[in-house]
Formats: sequence, C-alpha cells, structure tokens
Amino acid sequence: MKTKIQQQYSGIGSIHFLENILTVNENPFNIFLVTGNFFYQSSLKDTLEPLLASYDVTHFNDFSANPQLDDVRKGISLFKEKECDLVLAIGGGSTLDIAKSINILTAQIYGSSDKVTRYITKELSLKKPGKPFIAVPTTAGTGSEATHFAVVYIDKKKYSLAHPEWMLPDYVVLDPSLTYNLPAKITASTGMDALCQAIESYWSVYSTEESQQYAGEAIPLIWKNLPVAVNNPTPLARESMMKAANLAGKAINISKTTACHAISYPFTSYFNVPHGHAVALTLGEMFVYNAGVNDDDCLDGRGLAHTQKTMQELMAMAGVTSPDDFNHQWCALMDTIGLERRLHKLGLTTEEDIDLIVKNGFNPERVRNNLRVLTERELKKILYRIS
Ligand code: NAD
Repeated sequence: MKTKIQQQYSGIGSIHFLENILTVNENPFNIFLVTGNFFYQSSLKDTLEPLLASYDVTHFNDFSANPQLDDVRKGISLFKEKECDLVLAIGGGSTLDIAKSINILTAQIYGSSDKVTRYITKELSLKKPGKPFIAVPTTAGTGSEATHFAVVYIDKKKYSLAHPEWMLPDYVVLDPSLTYNLPAKITASTGMDALCQAIESYWSVYSTEESQQYAGEAIPLIWKNLPVAVNNPTPLARESMMKAANLAGKAINISKTTACHAISYPFTSYFNVPHGHAVALTLGEMFVYNAGVNDDDCLDGRGLAHTQKTMQELMAMAGVTSPDDFNHQWCALMDTIGLERRLHKLGLTTEEDIDLIVKNGFNPERVRNNLRVLTERELKKILYRIS
C-alpha cells in the first residue's frame, strides 16, 4: 500500500512543536481548528491560545461524539466560507475523524453541489487531497492519527471514508500530558479500543510482518499500563498508553480490524455504548472462537499452522496458557478498569435486542478478514454467552 511519511513529534510538552510546524513548515492564512467540548475545561486552551495568536483561526466544535453526516456538512460549509488552508484537529477519535472527513470532502465539493453522501457511501471516489492536516490526539485511543480512514455515521449506520494517502494526517503530535485529565471511564474505553485494535490486527488475515510488529509492541504495553492509567494514573502509564494507541493505529492502518469491530457499531448506535467498550464486549469470547480454528474454516491464506502460531503468540503476550484462560483474564481486565461486561446491564435485555446487533453488525463479507469463518449462528452464540 502506498502511504505517505508523516512527521511525528512525541513526548510530554510536544504540543509546543506546533509553533514550529506552523511558522516554519506551513505558514497558514486561516487555520480550521477542530476540538471537542472538553477543550474549554482543560488547560489546553491556555497553552494553545498563545501558539495560535498570530493566525486567523476558525474554531469548529459543533458536532457530537461519533460523527454524524449533518455534523460533517456543517463543518464543510464553515471551512468553505472561511477559506481555511490548514486543519488542526485536537481531540479524541471523533474529533480527528470529523476533521479528516471535512478536510477531504471540502476538496471534492464545488459550489453548492451536495454530493457529500455519495462520497461517504463510496458511490463517488475521492479525486483530490485536502489541506495540510495536523492531528493531536487527546485520548489513547483510536489511533486515528495513524490511519487512512475516518468514521461517519448516517442514520445509525457506520461508513468509512478512506484514501491510502490523502486521509492520513501530515503531522502528528503525541503529547501524553493532554490525556492527564481524561476521566477514568473514557481512559478505560479508549484504551480497550487500542488493545482490541492491536489484537484484531495481529490475527487479521491481512496482517503483515510490519503490522504484527506494531501490534506486538502495543499489546503488552496496554495490558500492563491500562489498569494503572485508569485507576491510579501516572505520567509513565499515560505516555505508554499514548505510544501504544499510536502503534495500534499503525497496525490497523495496514491490516484493518476484524469481527469485534464490525459488530461493535450497533452497540454504539443503538445502545450508546462508547466505541472502545463496545468492541471489548466480544473480544474475549471471540478469542476462544478464533483459537478453535481448523482446516475447514481457516480464512487465512497462509494456512492453519500460521493461524495457530498467531493465537499462541497472542496468548504468550497476554501471559496466559489457554484460550479460556485468555477469556478469563479479559473479563478480569474489564472488571479492573470498570467496564460492564454483560449485555443486559447495558440495556440489551431481549432477543430482539440481540437480533438488532446481528442485523446491523453482521455481514459475512465484512468478517472475512477474521482468521476463522464467522457465521451468524456462531456470532449469536457469542452474544448470548455475554448477555
Ligand atoms: P471521542 O473522541 O468520542 O471522545 C470521547 C469523550 O472524551 C468526548 O466527550 C470527548 O470530548 C472527551 N475527551 C477527549 N479527550 C479528552 C481529554 N483529554 N480530557 C477529557 N475529555 C476528553 O472518543 P474516542 O474513543 O477517542 O473516539 C471514538 C471515535 O473514533 C468513534 O467514532 C470511532 O468509530 C472512531 N474511530 C476511528 C478510527 C480511525 O482510524 N479513524 C479508529 C478507531 C475509532
């Protein structure tokens, strides 16, 4: 896959590299600044104001978590009206994703024509790059700063805008101090997103040596540091989580995610379960299922022995000796970081609720990057086991 080289700045205080990026590299006329609402309660505003004082800034924060089509439309109008020439996105995955979508789509849309939906649904393909893009994640996290896609929801359905080069940010600033005030619940959920990404990437049929290297570094880092980051945060745990989330993003940028992600979206759309939490719900059981792969249902072209080795390596990284033990440890991890594991406690109380998840999250084609064939029947069994 052709991909661009990003300029990456990491470490505590690296937010100050923004000055260098802006004055030396880009010298923009009007910055499109995208932030979440938490921005107003954080010290980030005080840090940022002097850094941006000498530029025209158009601030966009009028969007909901898990970006919706109308939010993207609002952003495009503002971007066009103010003729912005650089995007600075500071926030969680929702912020980075909506900024990515607005930037690329603004470049495709001329005059008053509204083809936004047709680009998002891939009826039209992207023809032009957007403006220079600086990504500053404040959750650890989605790794969106390292991926070439952005999630947009239309009528509760998840779509992904993607381009191997143009959707990848040009600059990435990984400053762990921006996550110091991240509440425990959000730390837990976003951290589990990163861990699930890394695990799913590791077992994806599209994994490569490079993606497994990123994921293999991320998994033990998260396993060790996430409970600390949630329950007794230290600068080291925050820094490790930010690094690991970025590695997990780099891993899925190559391999994509698999079944746990695919079926997570309706948990978020219909039951308001935060993204990372929604993905984590099924991963323990899916681990057991995938470890049972055999010659008849192995989807990885590299063969059964390769997939068995993959699962063994994952068990070694988690420090467990069997798939059931992995599931057990997974449940213990979710308990330790305070994430509910049972579907009935998250509002899924009826058979219809489970059917809703299956109907909106299961598509045999979309789970074909999972190493073992996943049928609707098997997925239902998994969902009933965690209900
Ligand atoms: P989020 O961006 O929705 O943020 C969750 C909450 O945390 C928000 O209320 C936000 O304002 C708050 N917040 C963010 N940073 C904070 C901070 N430092 N201190 C206090 N509060 C803070 O959550 P997320 O999990 O980062 O992103 C989820 C979105 O990312 C989903 O839409 C998901 O589909 C998408 N995603 C994208 C990719 C990708 O590669 N593009 C990958 C995974 C997930």
